[in-house]
Amino acid sequence: MSTATKTTQLDGSMSRRSMLAASAGAATAILAAPLLSQDKKNPMVHTVLGPVAPDKLGATLMHEHAPIVDWSELYETKPAPVAPVREKMLAKTASLLDAFHDTLAPNEGPGAIVETTPIRVGRYPMLFVDLAKRTKVHIIASSGFWCEALAPQHPWAIRLGINEGGIEQMAGLFIREVTEGMEDPSGEWGEKFTNVRAGIIKIGTSTFLRPSERACHIAAAIASKTTGCPITTHTTDGGGLEEAELLLKHGAPTSKVIIGHQGNQDDRENDEADEYHKLIARLGCYVQFDRVDHAKYGIDKQARQIAKLVEGGFVKQVLLSHDHAPYYFPNYTAKEKRPEDWKALEPDYTTVTTKLVASLGMLGVSKSEIRTMLVDNPKRVLAF
Ligand SMILES: [Zn+2]
Repeated sequence: MSTATKTTQLDGSMSRRSMLAASAGAATAILAAPLLSQDKKNPMVHTVLGPVAPDKLGATLMHEHAPIVDWSELYETKPAPVAPVREKMLAKTASLLDAFHDTLAPNEGPGAIVETTPIRVGRYPMLFVDLAKRTKVHIIASSGFWCEALAPQHPWAIRLGINEGGIEQMAGLFIREVTEGMEDPSGEWGEKFTNVRAGIIKIGTSTFLRPSERACHIAAAIASKTTGCPITTHTTDGGGLEEAELLLKHGAPTSKVIIGHQGNQDDRENDEADEYHKLIARLGCYVQFDRVDHAKYGIDKQARQIAKLVEGGFVKQVLLSHDHAPYYFPNYTAKEKRPEDWKALEPDYTTVTTKLVASLGMLGVSKSEIRTMLVDNPKRVLAF
């Protein structure tokens, strides 16, 4: 009996078993023939409303969450109900995103966000579609699995990381999500898919690299190598250099790797990690300052670190964002969930384009360098 058969028997689920067979088949077929070669001359950014020419994005916030994050499935409880509060969430989030759009000059618009909520932690593809129809900014969604930094790894990702052939199946899942459409979380794992494509793969690491996180990195590297899709990471007080090296070792294109959450304690020892950021940049990867409004990071400190990279000649490898979320569900371990328990936050998606830009200007970063980081770098890395 193969490992895969044993595992599916433990699941006791027909749909999951057929998912594993289907995603294994998809992975084999896709890996055999490099994808999208006909499109490579004319790469597009894959938003939730369809492909968009890179020039049409404008200023792009590279790591946000909108409208929701819900970790319930990580604790093996059912997701919090969205339907009763869906309208309210969409209206509020659209107006918050439009406030970001309103900060942009005409030649920086309409603006875009990368929505970095990965598989089954509040990622509802049709919710993104409806949000994108209501806001002036483009939305790019994420494939990939969240890490173990602040909650358990998703049991689906753990299973794929352990099963024989599971990493290839995980890569097949990511490839399917970025080339055909994201999984629909209303079914069993991998049972149903939408035709809404993801435009990036999100993965991450804890303070120390866990086995399941390693599996996700290898799968993401295979998917990126196959499709040209970018990869964006969560780091936890360091580990970005190790992430980059692991992804590159497994074939991810250097120019498609974005190391996130920089600007805190990036090398685990030094508060000001300028040399560390340069080590990542010298590999050819992007260094992303995506928690600009978070208390632990600080706007002035982030500006100082960004200015150091710009001075060092790495302006073409810097990306910016806030890592905000308007709603999350705090009682993720509860068996029963009430719609009124959704927690509303008041995120401001305008800090990067107002306060951070002002701080950078005071440090001598030019307008054209700021445009490079906000407009040109996102359109280059997101297009495939
Ligand atoms: Zn995030």
